[in-house]
Amino acid sequence: MFNLILFGPPGSGKGTQSIKIAEKYYLKHISTGDILRNEVKEQTVLGKEAQSIINNGALVLDELLIQILHSVIENNRGVTGFIFDGFPRTTVQADALDQLMLKVNSAINYVISLEVDDDDVKKRLLKRADIEGRKDDNETTINNRLDVYKSQTSPLLNYYDKQDKLVKVEGTGSIDDIFESICGKFKD
Ligand code: AMP
Repeated sequence: MFNLILFGPPGSGKGTQSIKIAEKYYLKHISTGDILRNEVKEQTVLGKEAQSIINNGALVLDELLIQILHSVIENNRGVTGFIFDGFPRTTVQADALDQLMLKVNSAINYVISLEVDDDDVKKRLLKRADIEGRKDDNETTINNRLDVYKSQTSPLLNYYDKQDKLVKVEGTGSIDDIFESICGKFKD
């Protein structure tokens, strides 16, 4: 299997790049944000629990995310690989993901970190708010999400760097140029 994690602050283009990478390498794209938004839309038990947390820009409980990932991985046995977009976001989730991958006799190959500075990210998210109308794309929530990213998620960069899996990619520029530089990082 070929398994990737797309890493980066909110608004760094993870979703856009994940879709393109999934298409090129025939990977199953897993966006935990999309999964959670769908649960909210359907007003499932999980969705109701997650709704206000998402709207505040905080993180949904690790246990819930790990459960979701467990069933997605189990239900997709036999795929070429996965691209994880928005997961893991905490060290607890990263440990759980390693265990889940082991269970299917696999492992993460690369962690791609999209590097975009705060000002750029804020501008992009506010623009997205106009286009997509996501409830968590307002200024207060954006600031929370960036704080959460810095305090809880960015320490994972070190976790994957130690495993020699981290690849940093400049996340500013055209979608196609960024895509090319990501693909150029994979060794045969
Ligand atoms: P995203 O679309 O990836 O920016 O995710 C939107 C929101 O969903 C986040 O701000 C969190 O509230 C929640 N979320 C998504 N993925 C996770 C995760 N791996 N752990 C905890 N919360 C998450």
